Amino acid sequence: MTYKRKKYHRGDTHLKKGWRTKRKTKDLDEIDEDLKDKNITNLLNQEVDLDKPGAGQYYCVHCARYFINDTALQDHITTKVHKRRLKALELEPYSIEESERAAGKGNYIAPQKRKIETITRDNFNMDLESEFSSKSKVAKVDA
Ligand SMILES: [Zn+2]
Repeated sequence: MTYKRKKYHRGDTHLKKGWRTKRKTKDLDEIDEDLKDKNITNLLNQEVDLDKPGAGQYYCVHCARYFINDTALQDHITTKVHKRRLKALELEPYSIEESERAAGKGNYIAPQKRKIETITRDNFNMDLESEFSSKSKVAKVDA
C-alpha cells in the first residue's frame, strides 16, 4: 500500500499557523525520554541562554519548566504540581502499553513502577562525578 504524501514545499512554512505562539508543553513520554542519562545531562547543563527564564540554568526536567533562579526551582520542587508529576512519571509508558497488550491475551502483567526522584543539576552532577571516579565499572552500552 502506498501513501500519498501531502505536498509541502519551502514556501509553505507560513501555513503552520500558530507554531510560534502556541505554548507546547511536553508529553509524559517525551519527558520520560528526557530522563534518560544522555538527555538529562544536556538538559541540566544547558548553555547560558538569556532568552530563557534564569538563562536556562534552572530547569525542572520532570515538568519541562524553566525557573528564574535556584530559589524558585527549589520552591517548585516542594509544590504539589511537581510531586504529582513525579508520581505520573513512575509508571513507565512502554510497560503500560505492554501490560495492556498482555491483558488482552489473558495474562496480566502489572505496569512496572519505578522510583522517580527529583533530579536537579546539583545532585545529578554529583552522581556523575562518583561514576567517573569508579573507572572499574563496565561501560554502559547504548542500545
Ligand atoms: Zn517539577
